[in-house]
Order: sequence, then structure tokens, then C-alpha cells
Amino acid sequence: MKKIAIIGSGFSSLAASCYLAQAGNNVTIYEKNQTIGGRARQFKKDGFTFDMGPTWYWMPDVFERFFKDFGKVPSDFYELEKLNPAYRVYFGTDDYITIEDTLEKICTAFEKEEAGSSVKLRKFMAQALDNYNIAIKDLVYRPGVSPLELVTVTTMKKIGQFFSTISKDVRREFTNPKLISILEFPVLFLGAKPSNTPAFYSFMNYADFGLGTFHPKKGMYSVIEGMKNLAEKLGVKIMTNQNVEKINIENGKANALIINGEKIEADIILSGADYHHTETLLDKKFRQYSENYWEKKTFAPSSLLFYVGFDKKIENVDHHTLFFDVDFEKHSQEIYDSPQWPNDPLFYASFPSKTDKSVSPEGKEAGIFLIPLAPGLDDIPEIREEYFEKIIERFEKITNQEVKKYVIFKESFCINDFMSDYNSYKGNAYGLANTLMQTAFLRPKLKSGKVKNLFFTGQLTVPGPGVPPALISGKLVAGLIEKDNKN
Ligand SMILES: Cc1cc2nc3c(=O)[nH]c(=O)nc-3n(C[C@H](O)[C@H](O)[C@H](O)COP(=O)(O)OP(=O)(O)OC[C@H]3O[C@@H](n4cnc5c(N)ncnc54)[C@H](O)[C@@H]3O)c2cc1C
Repeated sequence: MKKIAIIGSGFSSLAASCYLAQAGNNVTIYEKNQTIGGRARQFKKDGFTFDMGPTWYWMPDVFERFFKDFGKVPSDFYELEKLNPAYRVYFGTDDYITIEDTLEKICTAFEKEEAGSSVKLRKFMAQALDNYNIAIKDLVYRPGVSPLELVTVTTMKKIGQFFSTISKDVRREFTNPKLISILEFPVLFLGAKPSNTPAFYSFMNYADFGLGTFHPKKGMYSVIEGMKNLAEKLGVKIMTNQNVEKINIENGKANALIINGEKIEADIILSGADYHHTETLLDKKFRQYSENYWEKKTFAPSSLLFYVGFDKKIENVDHHTLFFDVDFEKHSQEIYDSPQWPNDPLFYASFPSKTDKSVSPEGKEAGIFLIPLAPGLDDIPEIREEYFEKIIERFEKITNQEVKKYVIFKESFCINDFMSDYNSYKGNAYGLANTLMQTAFLRPKLKSGKVKNLFFTGQLTVPGPGVPPALISGKLVAGLIEKDNKN
């Protein structure tokens, strides 16, 4: 039995802790914040409940596979509802497309926009399903140790799709700009521009249209609570308000954490905190990646978020509503190519109380607004306010109603909060993007090459950003640790 200390309590750390405890280790999680969950924390105020980070529950099979490893099913821990509609996308005032809960219905919506597009969509989705089966059922469960992991008979047949992009593939088939935007939307979860994301990643389109969008009752945080519950049943100890200040190395081996000035010894250290931050907890000679390395990487965007309590029910929106009424290309240049505050940002709004009565008082609405931003921008209160005004004004116009005067409260969260709350590099919201050059074995390694008994997990490692990948990352690193334990 090894004593394993885990830094952070995000999805990846919680997942890893379950596997490591199941294997018979003595596992403790040390979380700097008052509450667990990392980027998936919860915020409650005046009877309203908000998920602070993830709101889209996609790839339910990945969650099922996780719980099955412990002889459980998700419904042992939380209740899921498939959303219909899954979401709505606005392109202007009274101009929107609703994405419903079956491919059949989505084909009908596509056909209305562009004659013949449903046939193309079915063909596109057949390939997306094929890619999903290769990627999510198999490839993402490989630990990124060697390039050979990606070399299989099936991937060789798909090689062209690694060198084409989602953007090119979608545009080859579809000409209607609205349909193009909708088909490019899912890969935004992977953190890069569709024009910089390999076409193979169309498995995200299968996750979207093929599997659908779910809502865990009481919000995504109920998944965190479920995993905490499972971890504790397996014997994991979870401690909060534990800021790790240093990772102690002796004779090339990680052997202790310094937390609030106290030395906590362990046989193995696993960090689920952001990779860059974790390496700053090491003396320089033990770091694997230089500042220059991180500087050159494509990070997923940061975000400006608002959690708003409204004193009325909001109309003309769905649980998930996207505002794609502006030029996405321009906004994405302002995120990736010449980082700056966007002139006309697209944004996303979520109203979980449309589906879930438990998250707002009766007759009121909980609203979450998200604007994707370049990481590292200057984040000051006046700018946040300016952007709130900007999007609320657009929101009122597009959805044909007054909402601003019904705001009971609004709380914002942005780059500075990502840095101070999670030690996030430049305030990124969801890690390192999945571009071709940042895929699989090309991502930061799960196992330190410089220090023995030191491991990493989470959205900056394999397989990448998002809750399902975080669960997989926890499983992968636990596998590597067990392999090491046996040697
Ligand atoms: C706004 C937003 C929206 C998102 N939307 C979605 C979505 O809809 N669907 C989806 O699937 N994914 C979404 N994601 C991505 C998803 O939330 C993340 O990929 C996932 O939660 C990351 O988990 P993690 O374990 O890698 O890291 P984290 O959740 O960041 O966990 C790291 C933990 O380490 C702790 N820590 C850091 N430094 C220290 C230290 N020195 N000592 C102790 N503890 C420390 C942090 O406090 C944190 O708890 C979203 C993310 C954000 C931010």
C-alpha cells in the first residue's frame, strides 16, 4: 500500500483518487479552495444555484464507463435528464435554429435552412460516429506515452483527417453560414479554432447530435458530489483549505508536500492542478517544460462569466442558448491571433432553471453568461461591466424583452479569478487546446521525466479539455502509477 498525495480536487483528481484507492492505496486529496470541484465549483446566492464552470453534460457513455469501473452506474449518484431542445442558436433578432434531441429532428431543421443538407448531414454524422468509436472508445484511453499508440489499422485509414481541419471538411459539404456555425460549434470545447482543429475531431459532432445534451439534476456539481461520495466510500480522504506551496524532492524522488508550512510525507505525488503551476512548486532543475515552452502553446480560451439572478422568467431562450449573431471569425482572431478584448463577442447563455426548479426560487431565473476571451488579457472591473452592458443590450434586442431591470444580483468571474482561484496559466478556462501538434503524445506528460514518483493529470495533459477527458485523464494516470508501483 502506497501513500499517495493528490494536489487539487477537480474532476481529474477525483477520478484518479477513486482508481488509486480501489487499487489499495492510501489516498489523500489536498485542495487549496474552501470547496472541491475545481473549475466545476458551485456558487449559491439568495436561493439561486450556479455551476461556475461546465454546464454541458456530453458523452454520457464516458461517465457510465467511469462508474462501471467501480460496479456503479451514474444514477446511483445523480439523476440525468436528456434536454429537448438540446440548445438554441441565435443569428439575429427572431432568427434562430433549435437543435432538438434526435438526428431525425435535426435533419428536418437543417433541410429548412438549406435544401439537400440533411443528406449531407447524415453522411457527415456517419463519419463522426466512426471517429467517435475509434477515438472515445479506444484512442483517448491510451496514456500518450508513445506516438505508436496512435498507429492502428483504423487510424491509418483516417490519416487524411488528421491533416485536414473541421472547418475545411464542414465547408466542403455545407454552404449555409448558419449550418456551418452550428457544425463548427462542438469543437470549440476542444479549445482551438475549427480551422486549427483536425477533421478527425468530428467525433464531437457525434457527441452533440448523436448522443445529445444532458442535465444532471441540481447541476453539474451533483456529478462532483457523486464522485466525492464514491471516492470517500473507497477510502479517499479529502481535505480543503490546503494550499500546496512546494513539492519536496530528495535524491530525485518526490517525497512530500509543503502545505501551509507543514511537511506532509507521501510515497507518490499526483498533481491535478494546472501543469504550469505544478512545475512552479518544484525547484527549477526539476521542471520539464520552460516558460518558453508554455508561451508557445495554444491555450484554450479564458472566459468572462456572469452569474445572474433574475426577478422574472426569461422568455425566448432555452436551457442552453448561443448568440452567434456576430462574425465568429473576427472574434476568434481576437482570441487566438492578436489577443485583445473582442469588439463584438459571440456569447453563450445558460438558464438551468428552465429545466431544473431546484436552481432558482419560483418565478425567477438563474442565468449564466459566458464570453470566450484570450487568456492573459488585462482584467479590470470597468471592462467586465462594459461587456455586461454590451451583451445584455444585445440579449434584450435579440430575444425581444427587457431583462436588465430585473437583475437581482450579478457576480462576475474572469481571468484574474481563474489565476487566483485555480493557479491557472494566464487565466485559461479549460486548459491546453487539442490542435494537431497538441494531441496525445505531443501533450505534457502524465509522468515526470525528471522526478521519480511525480505524476500529473487534468486538462493540460492527455487527452485534453472537458469533463469527460478529465475523467479519462484520471484513469490513465492511475494506470501509470499502478504500473510504476508494480516495477
Ligand atoms: C467556464 C467553463 C466552462 C466549461 N464548460 C464545460 C462544459 O460545458 N462541459 C465540459 O465537459 N467541460 C467544460 N469545461 C471544462 C471542464 O470544466 C474542465 O476541463 C475540467 O473541469 C477540468 O478539470 P481538472 O481536474 O483538469 O482541473 P481543475 O478543475 O482546474 O482542478 C484543479 C484543482 O487544483 C486546485 N489547485 C491548484 N493549485 C493548487 C495548489 N497549489 N494547492 C492545492 N490545490 C491546488 C484548484 O483549486 C482546482 O481545484 C468548462 C470549463 C470552464 C472554466
